[in-house]
Amino acid sequence: MRIVDLIEKKKRSEPLSKSEIEFVVNGFVDGMVADYQMSAFLMAVCFNGMDDEEIWNLTQAMLNSGDRVDLSKVEGITVDKHSTGGVGDKVTFVAVPIAAACGVKVAKMSGRGLGFTGGTIDKLEAIPGYRTDLPLDEFVKIVNTVGLSNVAQMGNLCPADKKIYALRDVTGTVDSLPLIVSSIMSKKLATGADCIVFDVKTGSGSFCPKIEDAVKLAEKLIYIGKRAGKKVSAIITDMEQPLGYAIGNALEVNEAMDVLKGSGSKDVVEVCVAVASEMLFLAKKGTLDECKKLAGNALKTRAALEKFRAMTKAHGVDVSFLCKEGGLTLSSVKTQIRAPKSGYICRECADWLGKAASLLGAGRMKKGDNIDFGAGIKLHKKCGDFVKEGEVLVTLYSSEGAAAEEAVGAVKAALRIGKEPPKERSAILKIVR
Ligand code: URA
Repeated sequence: MRIVDLIEKKKRSEPLSKSEIEFVVNGFVDGMVADYQMSAFLMAVCFNGMDDEEIWNLTQAMLNSGDRVDLSKVEGITVDKHSTGGVGDKVTFVAVPIAAACGVKVAKMSGRGLGFTGGTIDKLEAIPGYRTDLPLDEFVKIVNTVGLSNVAQMGNLCPADKKIYALRDVTGTVDSLPLIVSSIMSKKLATGADCIVFDVKTGSGSFCPKIEDAVKLAEKLIYIGKRAGKKVSAIITDMEQPLGYAIGNALEVNEAMDVLKGSGSKDVVEVCVAVASEMLFLAKKGTLDECKKLAGNALKTRAALEKFRAMTKAHGVDVSFLCKEGGLTLSSVKTQIRAPKSGYICRECADWLGKAASLLGAGRMKKGDNIDFGAGIKLHKKCGDFVKEGEVLVTLYSSEGAAAEEAVGAVKAALRIGKEPPKERSAILKIVR
């Protein structure tokens, strides 16, 4: 086999066989296929797509390129959730403790943020003392005793995805359905949960600005998950505006804590309860209505809050940090943006706000950049709210004034005030099973 023939074949939009896909993936991991050849191949996939059989074979080849996490020592059914990435997405910190409080086991491995979307591991590391790098036996022990644990990816999971994703990131080949599906599913299958709920984001702050594309992505994730013997479902949620009021690592942990204590933003509560209910439903904890009730109760009785505190304690945190009035400490330079006129908030573009948060130090411009955990953005209004001229719309937190000056422009570009309220948009747009 020659890689150039396989690139030509995909260029002609012909399907590739299992052995041909393995040749491309293994060749790239071993260094036999050069970066420029893989780039050409990925671009051909972007233009011509892949059929279901090819997506399955690509997922399997990426999965088989590395280790798998052995969760056989976890007692009971394991359930996972996965977000396709968004701005202000703190759903894991609420949905996972709810599910654990209702008796399912969550052994969760998460990633770091890159670009304008945040990463769960960065947010957890904003909690002083939280250890994200536990060995497998300690991870499994916490899952068995507390019910949930959230760590960074361990071992040599899907090295093919790491190498391919790095190349996609710099060759304009991220937004391809088969490449996104195989990338997500190879990692999910390597981490071994029995059931997976996908939170597929749609809107300006997501990989799928159009809902039709988000539904297609959900359907393919479900197809691959079911074929691999998993129970899977997907919730399509809004990412046109950020989720909740907080963007940035410590800010988002604080907002999640507010939700766990029974207050917090309506959209965050709605998405978290929906994701948790779906996790319980897949784990056969009851009918969907019963699972919704169980999830709502776990919030109301603060059982989920106790689970989150117990998990962070098991990961090395002195929980007084989380109980402190005002929550985790934020960066010291505070900049406020006021409404230039009275009216309704018509737009709060998630991608621009995500970029602004990165400029403030909350995210990475490139892999390996340091994060300022206390940096970020607090919105005081959401789309549809009325504001008076001069009222504070947004507070920016940073450690340096220069960063704030740069971010102010991006925040202003993200906001629009109009005379009429915008059409109401629900946080939950569709459920795909
Ligand atoms: N998340 C992933 O893990 N991979 C993609 O390709 C896109 C989102």
